[in-house]
Amino acid sequence: MNAKATEQLAAGTGKPPVKKRTFSGVQPTGNIHLGNYLGAIRNWVVGQAQYENIFCIVDLHAITLPIDARELHENTRKLAALYLAVGLDLEHCKLFVQSHVQEHAELTWILNCFTPMGWLNRMTQFKTKAADDLDSVSNGLYSYPVLMASDILLYHAHYVPVGDDQRQHVELTRDIAQRFNSLYKQPVFTLPQAQIRDVAARIMSLSEPTKKMSKSDPDPQSRINLLDDPKVIKKKIGRAQTDSERLVKFDPQRPGITSLLSIYQAITGKEQAVIEAEFEGKGYGDFKAALTEQLVATLEPIQKRYYEYINDMAELENILKQGADAVRPIAQETVCNVKTVVGLG
Ligand code: ATP
Ligand code: MG
Repeated sequence: MNAKATEQLAAGTGKPPVKKRTFSGVQPTGNIHLGNYLGAIRNWVVGQAQYENIFCIVDLHAITLPIDARELHENTRKLAALYLAVGLDLEHCKLFVQSHVQEHAELTWILNCFTPMGWLNRMTQFKTKAADDLDSVSNGLYSYPVLMASDILLYHAHYVPVGDDQRQHVELTRDIAQRFNSLYKQPVFTLPQAQIRDVAARIMSLSEPTKKMSKSDPDPQSRINLLDDPKVIKKKIGRAQTDSERLVKFDPQRPGITSLLSIYQAITGKEQAVIEAEFEGKGYGDFKAALTEQLVATLEPIQKRYYEYINDMAELENILKQGADAVRPIAQETVCNVKTVVGLG
């Protein structure tokens, strides 16, 4: 059934309107950090009752760059435990592992054949990740945005809550969907919208504040991980790069202090002006101490719950299996429809 038919079915039945659907995911490529949490995952938690949610651990994306097999397998479970620990509720959300639903790979191949190279050549993430290594990076890294488009389009997601760095990929997803729909003159795919919050949409590296905080950054000092203990957090915030001005103010010209302030803003929920007033006449030392205190208080309960989930591996595996079983029929229906439309089979 296509997207329009689903909505038509819901309309006029006297039933409450069907909730809009969200889809998002995180790669199990390493330690989940504050950027992932504040830019993406926390927003999933906040909006979860309002939507029908599908959240994925995108392990097929994680192999687009070299990764150790055991590490990938373990990271996948750790990320599932963190999804639950931050407050995703199975009543509102389906959680699953991307490779457990084979339709992600199948739709990706088909959409690869409908995506002009010129569109992929414009993707900035590929340029950053491939760096100077263009001859040896994988075809998978190049086609990463098509896999992401398939993830979203398989489930007819309306919203994609992500950090600012993924804006371009969601736009590409819309372009691919639009092109496919108009080529076959039918609404096969729903056009998704990126959901990017104003605050903390791009948390910067603590050591190089002109770069975004990333799991794959080889420098562990560059990020605060959700599982860092209080001593490590204190040390990392203490060493976080700022500047010589010593003014605790939001200022795009000073990305170091501004990124730390936006972390503080996201955690406390205070307005920028209130925060600036709070630290007027105070230095970076006072601000960093307050930020550390807030971070520890935010992360401690998450960490406590994380260890409860990760220590019950059988239950975690069961949750992931149930999640995949629940979403698979949606993915199968989409792929079946796409194949018919294209003339495959
Ligand atoms: P990698 O370095 O392996 O690409 P990553 O840290 O970029 O890892 P992803 O798994 O690629 O994390 O992204 C997961 C989600 O976190 C996405 O929605 C992405 O937009 C968001 N995100 C990643 N980094 C940041 C950041 N620094 N600030 C805000 N959001 C972020
Ligand atoms: Mg990334």
